[in-house]
Amino acid sequence: MNEPIGFIGLGSMGAPLASRLLDTGHSLVVHDVRPDALARFAGRDVTVAGSVREVADAASIVLVSLPTPDIVRAVATGPDGLIGGDRIRLYVDLSTTGPIAAREIGGALAARGIGVVDAPVSGGVAGAAVGKLVLMAAGAGPDVAQVLPILANLGQVEVVGEAPGMGQSLKLINNVLSATHMAIVSEAMVLGVKAGLDPEVMLTVLNKGSGRNTSTEERFPKFVLPRTFDNGFSNALMRKDLKLCMEMAEAMQVPMWVGTAVDRLWMQTVLQIGPNENTTTIVKTIEQWAGVEVRGKSAAPRAAAA
Ligand code: NAD
Repeated sequence: MNEPIGFIGLGSMGAPLASRLLDTGHSLVVHDVRPDALARFAGRDVTVAGSVREVADAASIVLVSLPTPDIVRAVATGPDGLIGGDRIRLYVDLSTTGPIAAREIGGALAARGIGVVDAPVSGGVAGAAVGKLVLMAAGAGPDVAQVLPILANLGQVEVVGEAPGMGQSLKLINNVLSATHMAIVSEAMVLGVKAGLDPEVMLTVLNKGSGRNTSTEERFPKFVLPRTFDNGFSNALMRKDLKLCMEMAEAMQVPMWVGTAVDRLWMQTVLQIGPNENTTTIVKTIEQWAGVEVRGKSAAPRAAAA
């Protein structure tokens, strides 16, 4: 029987990722603080661990998909963390943790003989469900080689460096770009609607022109025009990534004027629309200022005013 892989954090991303590993013949020992996240795996080839430490006592390779650097730090190197486990030899962080925390965690684990690979992912919940993510992996050659066959079940693995945190650096760079086009497309679409343009016509034309990007091609048609906003990535987590990117820019002494403005706009969205709403709701921030909505024909009719 194959040794189980440890998996901690079965949220929006972790659940489909763990599910892919099960679908591809792996068994898992899993842990999450939310019982409902664990309940979804009933009847599958999983052992539920009651604590982080139990995972590290049962599996030599442990993957985590957790929300914030502080939580990742506590799970990996906290007093009851993975670091004290009997069996763990390799730790893989699929979360977006940022290079500063990744290096700190990597150093602490390496000092205890635990190898570290950072492998943050891009491609969203939809990509996770079908194994079509890009994983930005960094770590020592033999450690990366050991986890590659596992990670290859989740998507395309790009090895971007050997030092801990290099995958994290590239992931933050990816997300500041993703956030920036979502923000500017929101402004542009609201402007167009207020000027009398049809948003469906706008997207059709923009996607044939030089303004196209994944927000015009996917996020607006799939989540904004139908007004479902269910893209599965919260404003709080996007704000966390932007803050991490700004910290990285500060540490590198690279002034990022546009990135800073986008970070401020996302802070406003967290306050105005809500931290747990999905990232496509950034358009609502602009809509509320401008007094129009970017609404497609497929959207449910507006709720009647109270
Ligand atoms: P999420 O909040 O949906 O899921 C996180 C899970 O971790 C939850 O189930 C939560 O209960 C669990 N958890 C929290 N603290 C824990 C602890 N101490 N021990 C065990 N479990 C704990 O978050 P998500 O959207 O799945 O994102 C996870 C990571 O992946 C984040 O770093 C995020 O930035 C990154 N990411 C998300 C997306 C996306 O589209 N959602 C895309 C790429 C990367």
